[in-house]
Amino acid sequence: MGNKGKCKFCGEEKNLIKAHIIPRNFYVGRRTEKYRSVDTQTGKWTHCQSGIYDKSILCSNCDGKILKLFDDEAYRVLLNSEYVHPIQENLSSKLFEFRANQFNYKLLRKFFISVLWRASV
Ligand SMILES: [Zn+2]
Repeated sequence: MGNKGKCKFCGEEKNLIKAHIIPRNFYVGRRTEKYRSVDTQTGKWTHCQSGIYDKSILCSNCDGKILKLFDDEAYRVLLNSEYVHPIQENLSSKLFEFRANQFNYKLLRKFFISVLWRASV
């Protein structure tokens, strides 16, 4: 496992890991479904069992100790029915709410920014 490179988060030369662009837990049906990754340059595609990842952007420290804090807060509130309440529902749509006192605004905001950042680099 020696994929050396410059981590795009801390800027240091390190072993880089398989960093998921969108955290794995957010893939619907991730245990049973396969996803297709398409290279926009070549048009070639591959199956990815666990979503799209990039092996050239993050070291394990940045991924596992910094961005993980944001991901964990997103998992805690967005994937947990205890916090996310449907308040209006009809055949074509569902409206959800979750309350300001039930989540850490700074962490959740950084989660959304970090997904955009991962996708952009
Ligand atoms: Zn790093």
